[in-house]
Amino acid sequence: MTSTPAITVLGAAGTVTGSSYLVESAEGGRVLVDVGLYQGRKELRLRNWAPFAIDPSHIDAVVLTHAHVDHSGLLPKLVVEGFTGAVYATPGTAALTRIVLPDSGYLHEEEAAFANRKGYSKHSPALPLYTRAQAEACLDQLREVSFAHPSTVAPGIEVTFGHAGHILGASSPSIRLTGTGHRVVFSGDLGRSDHPLLVTPDPVAANGSRLDVAVCETTYGDREAPEAEVADVLEAVVSDTARRGGVVVIPAFAVDRTEMVLHHLDVLVRAGRIPAIPVFVDSPMASAALQVYRRAARSGDPEIRPELHGTDLFSSLDLTETRSVEESKELNTRRGPLIVISASGMATGGRVLHHLANRMGDSRNTIVLVGFQAPGTRGDRLASGERSIKLLGAERDVAAKVVTVPLSAHADRSDLLAWLRSGPEPQRIVLTHGEAEASASFAEHLVDEGFDAERVIVPEVGRRIGLV
Ligand SMILES: [Zn+2]
Repeated sequence: MTSTPAITVLGAAGTVTGSSYLVESAEGGRVLVDVGLYQGRKELRLRNWAPFAIDPSHIDAVVLTHAHVDHSGLLPKLVVEGFTGAVYATPGTAALTRIVLPDSGYLHEEEAAFANRKGYSKHSPALPLYTRAQAEACLDQLREVSFAHPSTVAPGIEVTFGHAGHILGASSPSIRLTGTGHRVVFSGDLGRSDHPLLVTPDPVAANGSRLDVAVCETTYGDREAPEAEVADVLEAVVSDTARRGGVVVIPAFAVDRTEMVLHHLDVLVRAGRIPAIPVFVDSPMASAALQVYRRAARSGDPEIRPELHGTDLFSSLDLTETRSVEESKELNTRRGPLIVISASGMATGGRVLHHLANRMGDSRNTIVLVGFQAPGTRGDRLASGERSIKLLGAERDVAAKVVTVPLSAHADRSDLLAWLRSGPEPQRIVLTHGEAEASASFAEHLVDEGFDAERVIVPEVGRRIGLV
């Protein structure tokens, strides 16, 4: 079978979730790069239930850029609906995907059970998008491929993973169509060069001078990251709250952001800049991910910054990881000073909700928000200074201090531009994975920086870009 080589944008257009692209080779090879879950607003979440744009049984392989569910979370559904091929991922991504997807299945089951209890689903009974068991079953299809090792994943399609520096395992896949010589590179989610644990993103792979398309994320395409020193902000917050005998509650994404926060706290304790008050990580998924990061550091994984090789991460902290629901609830009765780090990062769900409900009415306490807060989420409302928030069924006053720490796992505008300039000039640049304004703003910025406007594309979902 032959076809026209092309890439098609299947998700993450005008939004930061639901990443997915189809790559087709002249030899008829079909590969999905990412198969991400939509998150956030209801109209986005409903898209998770829509049929795939392409029959899953006609896809040869999936390539995952990283383990976050907005890039991997529809994989179980793809498999349930007939995809039988291999899922290529770096070892770090494979390890974290094994944690993240079963958890996602569990959350979908919980959501369906909740809808059934409340009777608000129009389906009776409400069904989960997929179950934990279905998520576990699809993990058998994972195939680990190291960074910088080209591998053929489908007829005429070869993939090489470059470091993206966003979370452990995160990659920017470079895809070569071997029959026609086309090359397409996907940024995946790009990290910042100052990630405290991970090595900096690789330049756009320079294997060959040709680059037909660069698909680039634009989460922060409209802004520069503030220069504020994360460590200084955390030092002030923890010291002040500890002095008041208060509790620092940090809603944090279970994978990577928790590690970043812990590492900063570890460095501050080591330097004597904050007292060694008890730190609790209250998220089973975060604890599982911590193990993966710890193992990577201890074993000298090349993704980890060389100065951390062979070390025990976070070892200066008085750190407790709570597993059971009882242990989690028991934290509510503890008096400060202490620090609780719990998911989810935008306070949209998870155990952090009961910590917030329990602690935010007390002015001695501090809520620390780290990283991107999607519009309309509780995290966003707290960050913008709302003094009353609906939480666990009740409207609650916010008396605690709310502090935002610019601890981002995403490249800012300058980083994105630098990445695009780090290899051969792309014939076309496709901007995705951003709110519409962020993508549009970055497109304008690229033109200001001398890129030809005709070559910069901000696509709609479904846009097919032929390779000529
Ligand atoms: Zn991500």
